[in-house]
Amino acid sequence: MMIKSLLNGRLWKFDPGKPLTLCRFYGGGKMKFINRQITVIAWVMLLGAITLTADRQIDPVLWQKALKIHERALVVDTHVDTPMYILGEKTDLGRPGNPNDVDFVRMKEGGLDAVFFAVFVSNRLDKKQPSKNALDMIDEVYLQIENNPGLAELAVSPGDMEHIHQKGKRAILLGLENGGPLEGNLRLLRNYYRLGVRYITLTHSAHNDICDSCSGGTAKWNGLSPFGKTLVQEMNRLGMLIDVSHISDRAFWDVLSVSKAPVFASHSCVRSLCDVSRNMSDKMIKALAKKGGVIQINFFSAFLDEDYRKRSALVDKEIAPQRKLLREKYKNDRNEYWNRSIALWKKHAPEPPSIDRLIDHIDYVVKLVGVDYVGLGSDYDGASSYPGGLADVTGYPLITYHLLKRGYEEKDIIKILGGNFLRFFRQAEGVSRQLKSASNTMQE
Ligand SMILES: [Zn+2]
Repeated sequence: MMIKSLLNGRLWKFDPGKPLTLCRFYGGGKMKFINRQITVIAWVMLLGAITLTADRQIDPVLWQKALKIHERALVVDTHVDTPMYILGEKTDLGRPGNPNDVDFVRMKEGGLDAVFFAVFVSNRLDKKQPSKNALDMIDEVYLQIENNPGLAELAVSPGDMEHIHQKGKRAILLGLENGGPLEGNLRLLRNYYRLGVRYITLTHSAHNDICDSCSGGTAKWNGLSPFGKTLVQEMNRLGMLIDVSHISDRAFWDVLSVSKAPVFASHSCVRSLCDVSRNMSDKMIKALAKKGGVIQINFFSAFLDEDYRKRSALVDKEIAPQRKLLREKYKNDRNEYWNRSIALWKKHAPEPPSIDRLIDHIDYVVKLVGVDYVGLGSDYDGASSYPGGLADVTGYPLITYHLLKRGYEEKDIIKILGGNFLRFFRQAEGVSRQLKSASNTMQE
């Protein structure tokens, strides 16, 4: 079924000497051709055969096998920033042609079955009314799902994700990126849970009242704050997943010692392969895995590839004055600033790394701790560059193909694509059930 829909949704057309051409069918059998600058030049006919012409060989037999595995898997992405993108824009995620990285139509084309929409509230910019901003974004996600009942449904549990997948729809889950919108109040935490929010990234790029950030400068708490410790306990009791992406190393170790449930990194990579504080050290990955957690690999080129990171730092320096002007000009319109800033970046951006870099990070974690503790958290709609072929959410089958090419077996690929995350989610739910049955008391 997925192969059919993949092929219906996305035909890779052969045109020698030209960049890969995607051909999409829209309602009523109309066809529209979109040229994409992708280094792979491939050929997929209606029957799915591919040949190569350029620098990368795509093996048609392996590609067919990859599509079959991709169809069987429940493919999960634990972090996209789409709510930030759609708020204030006239967007319908159920229609084709959106300029962002993620919508329900392209999720289907890429065989992405379940996604966490991160409700991102900046702890630098949204100090005045963080809960209002978060609730507005949650409302927008609900509206998008309500307007597209045939395409997507809200999921709040691993069971929901599986049922919605079986129906052939996209499962949409909610996560809160930065605990600022809790405003230090556990009643708000419980209300977010009731609305369907199932994870909280404890902080973002600045320290907050929960813990220190990995990019916040001099530590404020040296890890988790007293409120942060109470929060982690209440999250455990509720079955709310704890996301350690963005938090400082010391906060990570505090979380690990306080949390009764396994925790996860919704969108982080391996520090040994790309040395940035947002990525996790080997020691952290080992401890995370030992507790039953998962590291969901981020697709952002600058977290995957050292060389890209250095080149993009130079570009950042070069365009800093223009960015400053934009910031001043659009200081009252964050969306407009964001869009223009991205457009400016794209004009100067260095060539992204190949998809092999992403597979390297997955492979590294597998060799370090085994195949049960790694998955995918793309950061689509939140990052400025992704590896070749992964420019948007339609590229997922390429990951399956490249895992297969590296020698991964089907059962392990299915774990990486989503099985590991589902196992972890269930484990956290189990801890919640135990805590709830052991005591009725909740944190004040
Ligand atoms: Zn993030």
